[in-house]
Amino acid sequence: MTLRLSGLHKTFGDFTAVHPLDLTIPEGSFFALLGASGCGKTTTLRMIAGLEEPTGGAVLLGDRDITALPPHRRPVNTVFQSYALFPHLDVFENVAFGLRRRGERDPRKRVEEMLELVQLGPLARRRPRQLSGGQQQRVALARALINHPRVLLLDEPLGALDLKLRRQMQLELKRIQLEVGITFVHVTHDQEEAMSMADTVAVMYGGRVEQLGTPADLYEHPRSTFVANFLGTSNLIRAEVTGTAPNAGEGGDLIELSTAGGPLRLPSGRCADEPRTGDRLLAGVRPEKISLVPAEDAHTVPSGRNRLTGRIALAGYLGVSHQYVVESPAAPGLAVYRQNTEHDHRLTPGAEVVLHWNPDHTFGLDADQDIEAGTGEAAV
Ligand code: ATP
Repeated sequence: MTLRLSGLHKTFGDFTAVHPLDLTIPEGSFFALLGASGCGKTTTLRMIAGLEEPTGGAVLLGDRDITALPPHRRPVNTVFQSYALFPHLDVFENVAFGLRRRGERDPRKRVEEMLELVQLGPLARRRPRQLSGGQQQRVALARALINHPRVLLLDEPLGALDLKLRRQMQLELKRIQLEVGITFVHVTHDQEEAMSMADTVAVMYGGRVEQLGTPADLYEHPRSTFVANFLGTSNLIRAEVTGTAPNAGEGGDLIELSTAGGPLRLPSGRCADEPRTGDRLLAGVRPEKISLVPAEDAHTVPSGRNRLTGRIALAGYLGVSHQYVVESPAAPGLAVYRQNTEHDHRLTPGAEVVLHWNPDHTFGLDADQDIEAGTGEAAV
């Protein structure tokens, strides 16, 4: 059943936590609400669960309007960050709880199936305090799933786990979701978590959905500086449109730009709006799309590439990659990631360099936006 939010909104006094929201979440999808603290994602989730009364709008499941139903009458279950397990019951009884309450006398078969799904069969007789955080999280999941909800809501479910376990559980959650085929709506401030699991991600900012799409779509085609900075890192360069040229790569047109560091080009299809000559915009490029060569090798850069000059300000070694910060006349502090396959010892702080990339990897954003938006502590 499709879950639909129609004009759903919430105000607390004169503060609007969630502006009217229209969302369609197809049955069986893994949907993430992603955003920094305070953007309204938990309030949205709580309105779906029935734990928060909307100021207006509706929650629909299939054709049924469930807005007025109390939480326990909705075919929806929630898994919270604090697992809220019963400490005096063992794993088996925690999972069986919902079935017993509904009068099922012999829940054994279904509980065992559920424990197998979350790979906790051998621990069935342990109490919650005898389990690790990740194991407790699985019990909470099994307990929610055994009720066969139409929609499972997950509110920062991995928030209490350390980073390594969190990454493991992300894969687990995805596997479980694919296996049970239930719609998952997952709230998180962790962009990697959202991107690694969800089919569709709604990036929220200030009580609104800033952009909705597949993880790849959001990453490759951000439409605002907030999304460009919140999902990974983006280099944003102030530019002015000088004309257009045919694009041999992606087809269509290339927009020609002038910047403080020289000309750049970008495909017209990768601009939020249709730019005209004289318009100002921000030209964006992801750090891993940029190649870096010492200035003396500038002649090796193939023609047709976007290129800028600069000087390395910082060079860091991160195991899988080398990361550089390059000061360029085009923009301060351009980030460049270079895969750790071969290392050029000339690429050290102070070195004059040429940065170059395929123009098709450039995206265009509205120049009036805050260039720093989304670069807060929650961004990676
Ligand atoms: P976090 O990740 O920190 O939980 P969030 O994106 O889930 O953040 P919400 O919990 O939805 O954010 O809160 C959105 C905004 O609404 C916040 O500014 C919050 O302070 C405010 N808010 C939430 N609940 C209430 C309430 N009961 N009364 C007043 N303001 C509230």
